[in-house]
Amino acid sequence: EEEALIQSEKLSVVGQMAAGIAHEIRNPLTSLIGFSKFLKTRINSYHDYFDIMLVELDRINAIVQEFMALAKPQANQFRRHDLIKTIQSVLTLLETQAIMNNVQLSASYDAEAAELLCEENQLKQVFVNVLKNAIEAMPQGGTVAIRLTSAGSRDIAVSIEDQGVGIPEEQLPLLGGPFFTTKDGGTGLGLMICYRIIEGHRGKIDIASAHGKGTTVTISLPKNE
Ligand code: ADP
Ligand code: MG
Repeated sequence: EEEALIQSEKLSVVGQMAAGIAHEIRNPLTSLIGFSKFLKTRINSYHDYFDIMLVELDRINAIVQEFMALAKPQANQFRRHDLIKTIQSVLTLLETQAIMNNVQLSASYDAEAAELLCEENQLKQVFVNVLKNAIEAMPQGGTVAIRLTSAGSRDIAVSIEDQGVGIPEEQLPLLGGPFFTTKDGGTGLGLMICYRIIEGHRGKIDIASAHGKGTTVTISLPKNE
C-alpha cells in the first residue's frame, strides 16, 4: 500500500519535471532559431552549416513540443485525427531512444490515412508506453514492427511486435494491473494507463506473447463512421 503510494508520487514528480524542463527549454530555443535565421541572411558563406543548424533546432523544437503535449493534463476532447500521423509523431519522439538501444522501428500502413474520432494526446501516450515496453524487452536490440491495418474493416488495428524476452504465460493475467512490473525501477503503470485510455475509446488491447521469442500487442479502435 505504502509502496504503491510512493511509486505514484514518484511518477507525478517525474511527469511534472519533464513538463517543466520542456517548458524551460522552449524560450532559449526560440531565440536560437530566430538568431540563426537572422545570421543566415547576414552572412554570405557557411549557408550549408546554418541549414543543418536550423534542421536540428527544428527537431529539438518538435520533441520539446511533444513532451509538453504529453504532460499537459486536459479535458477529454475527441476530434477527428489521422492515426497514421499520430503514430509517425510518436516514432519521431522515440527514434533516439531506439537508436541508443540498437532497436529498429519499422512501420507499415495499409492505407494512405486512417481517420478516427479520438483524443490524440491520449493515444500518443498509449503508443509511447507500448513502444517503450517493446524497446525495453530487447536488451540486445532487434526490430519492432508497427503495422496499421484499416482497409475493409470496422476497426483500425495497430499491432506492435517485438523480438524481446516475452512474457511467461502465468504473468499474462497480471498485465495492466496497477504496479505490476518485472523491471528494476519500473512503475507498472504504463499498461494500466493504456487499458484505461483504450477503454475510453471503446477499443481493446490484446497481448500475445511467447516466452523468449517476443510479444505482440494489438490495439483495436472503432472507426466511428
Ligand atoms: P513497466 O514498464 O514500468 O514495468 P508496464 O505496465 O508498462 O510497466 O508493464 C508491466 C510489465 O509487463 C513489465 O514490467 C513487463 O514485465 C511486462 N511487459 C509489458 N510489455 C512487455 C513486452 N513488450 N515484452 C515483455 N514484457 C512486457
Ligand atoms: Mg512500461
